[in-house]
Amino acid sequence: MDETMDGTTSTELESLVSALEGAGVDLLVGTAVDFGGVTRSKGVPVRRLPAFVESGMGASPSWNVFCVDNAIAFTSTIGVTGDLRLRLDPARVRRIDDGLAWGPTDFYNQDGTPSPLCSRSRLAAVVQRAESLGLVATMGTELEFTLTTADGERLPRPAWAAYGMQSVVTNRAFLVDLTATLEASGVGPEQVHAEYGIDQFEVSLAPASPVAMADAQVLTRALIGIVASRHGMAASFSPLPWIDGTGNGAHLHLSLARDGEPLFAGGEGPHGITEAGGSAIGGILAGLPELLGVYAGSFLSSHRLQPGHWSGAAVCWGLENREAAVRFLAATQGNPHGANVELKIVDPTANIYLAAAALLGSALHGIEAGLPLPAEVATDPAGRADPALALESDHAAVLAALEGSALAAELLGPEILEGVVAVRRHEAEVLATRTGEEIAEALRFAWSS
Ligand code: GLU
Ligand code: MG
Repeated sequence: MDETMDGTTSTELESLVSALEGAGVDLLVGTAVDFGGVTRSKGVPVRRLPAFVESGMGASPSWNVFCVDNAIAFTSTIGVTGDLRLRLDPARVRRIDDGLAWGPTDFYNQDGTPSPLCSRSRLAAVVQRAESLGLVATMGTELEFTLTTADGERLPRPAWAAYGMQSVVTNRAFLVDLTATLEASGVGPEQVHAEYGIDQFEVSLAPASPVAMADAQVLTRALIGIVASRHGMAASFSPLPWIDGTGNGAHLHLSLARDGEPLFAGGEGPHGITEAGGSAIGGILAGLPELLGVYAGSFLSSHRLQPGHWSGAAVCWGLENREAAVRFLAATQGNPHGANVELKIVDPTANIYLAAAALLGSALHGIEAGLPLPAEVATDPAGRADPALALESDHAAVLAALEGSALAAELLGPEILEGVVAVRRHEAEVLATRTGEEIAEALRFAWSS
């Protein structure tokens, strides 16, 4: 029996086609997230699924460096010539709406070798590195978004209650449909709730292996967009849909285990953190200034990262500290998933595969280097005048730190690193002369799926 490179047989692929056809699917779209955090896609009639898996569909290398204004930020390795193949992962294919199915893809070269421009396989490589160190990584994500009218304006509201029942009652048709849709697609949301910002909601996803978590986030964003449009609305995943409004985060949670034993619990350190767990936190914080351009690198991102907004805008960690970049969650009866760290800095403009690779990779780096656990910041860091806690807010400086980072080059590879910097510099070039209000308006739906 013929096998594809991931071991799926051609008979299994034909059964998948039949199952999807039986579920009324006509169009199958495969997605890849570009370096600016925008999800790109290619579609085929569902009967072409085996070809999408085996030979892949053509995509220019420049797909990775399309920008929010749909211009291309060429790099030394990404020009107008050459072609890549987008190959669908059949294990993750799901029906997502009437007639429509989705699955994630990886970029391959024409000769069938993996492309160094593939974010998804970059994350898989960092996961493998963790495994070679005897570590199992699990990640979760919280996705915040803001609902608007279909044409992108504020919804007419008499009032908004942060985390309020009023917000649920007013939006119940949308929320019930969203929950049912997410459940049916296999995403399995952990929570669906109104956030503190006006018209802002959050879906949090269960912990999973890192690539599965990132795939689920891409799917969830698409489903949120689909359900919002069914209800005559749109969903913004901008870090700041309105310049004077509330920011949307895309926080990442990470837990690590060795031989079934967690690194963030059962140890001698504060809150049960083990020595290796402390090194992981040390690595995440040490890498943060260089990797900020991966976590929250859009031209709008730093406007969200302000003290007092629970976006974790201080380079420190603390138990349940919402103002610390790394919020530590201890193993308690109230935390059935076990101890983990939450990186609150991340926003929805990040390529989730690259952000997860950066977070896990910097934790591994801390473990390999035996970095110490930095001192805990147990109170609001805004009250401290310590310059070491300050987060760089100048976009050019954030990108310069990323560009010069040996850690980023190692984790992402030089081709991706150059592309991420090129895309974000292009954003700055086209937006620099505009007011904050104009920028927020121009980018309100740039990251919507
Ligand atoms: N909306 C906040 C942010 O920008 C996060 C609020 C929360 O802690 O859930 O990250
Ligand atoms: Mg939240």
